[in-house]
Amino acid sequence: MEQEFESLISLQEIDKKLISLKKELNQIPLKLKEIEDKRKKNQEELSKAKEKLIANQKKRKELELEVQSLKEKVSKYKKQLYEVKTNKEYASMLKEIEFTEGEIEKLEEKIIEELLNADEIQAEIKKAEEINQRENNKLQEEEQKIKSKREKILNEIEELNKERKELIPKVPKNYLELYEKIFSKKNGIVLSPVSDEFCSVCNMRIRPQMLNELKSNKDLIFCENCGRILYWVGKPASEKKKKRA
Ligand SMILES: [Zn+2]
Repeated sequence: MEQEFESLISLQEIDKKLISLKKELNQIPLKLKEIEDKRKKNQEELSKAKEKLIANQKKRKELELEVQSLKEKVSKYKKQLYEVKTNKEYASMLKEIEFTEGEIEKLEEKIIEELLNADEIQAEIKKAEEINQRENNKLQEEEQKIKSKREKILNEIEELNKERKELIPKVPKNYLELYEKIFSKKNGIVLSPVSDEFCSVCNMRIRPQMLNELKSNKDLIFCENCGRILYWVGKPASEKKKKRA
């Protein structure tokens, strides 16, 4: 029984490794997506700042055009000053010029304000670009690490599958059928090594009579609680007896 059972233990070891590797592999797409999301977010920050600058430039252009058109108005009025016939007309024209020049002044103040805003936005863009550069380098490194990890996991899985394929013919058919039956019900953990008096998977105490049978290693013994196959990995029964003697 012992040697045949060894093949089952080896099979379980391979499957345990496969289970944990596949778990790790399943997490990789999520990790890559997280990186992609961070990258997008950084890019968005930069785009937002750039859009702000474009809006600022547009605003400035509009104000400048307005100023220009008012200045043209003023120079037209000034020419008309020579053509007016009455003092009243002259006075009202002067008032009009004064008012328009006041408007121009207000607009020019606004332009200066927008220029100051532009400086701030430029600084924002520069900062966002720096952060982007730094973060993207870090993200790229992280991404590369994850991708090589994936490569490594895939290679290990391939290797283990090969080992498994070679091992399967060495496992007795009745053992294999039992193994597969428990495997699907118990998330792939079929065997429970025992080194004291507890099932190492579900921690249920094993009855003394069963424990003795387990130590003698003659028959397959199942955990009464979780149904897994128990096997003894503690000190051999004989050795213990000798020590007590
Ligand atoms: Zn158990």
